[in-house]
Amino acid sequence: MRYYTHITTSLSMSLIYGQLTDTALPTSVLVGVAVGSVLPDIDETKSYIGRRTGPISRFVKMLFGHRGITHSGLVIAFAIFGAMNTDIDFLFGLSLGVIFHIVGDFFSKGGVPLLLPLTKDRFKFPLYRTGKTSEFVIFCGSVAFLYYFFFM
Ligand SMILES: [Zn+2]
Repeated sequence: MRYYTHITTSLSMSLIYGQLTDTALPTSVLVGVAVGSVLPDIDETKSYIGRRTGPISRFVKMLFGHRGITHSGLVIAFAIFGAMNTDIDFLFGLSLGVIFHIVGDFFSKGGVPLLLPLTKDRFKFPLYRTGKTSEFVIFCGSVAFLYYFFFM
């Protein structure tokens, strides 16, 4: 999933989460979601975040490879713990963004290694291919959702 689709789908999932749990999501949370939604791809030097973090991205990729530990259940557990234990709106949003990034990649053809380091097996429910029409449809759907949410 491209970075812009991660941002729009993660924001959409966060707003749905906010509605379902009756949680207010001020702008500071949503900014955190947008930033968090691109963070896990720091393990890919050619990604949006990877190109902006140069040496850090190369180091993380060298250590773990793309869609390695940054896309695992360990990170989801850490992010849930973070979300439950912070009073800082931005960090709460950042945690949600990271979780929803991994959820987004779970629905890609490539899947995610949810049980690292126990197994490198990737888990998925493939609905789209990164950069293909199927992703574009998801991008447009999430933009339509956001438009409806904020302006209708
Ligand atoms: Zn990713």
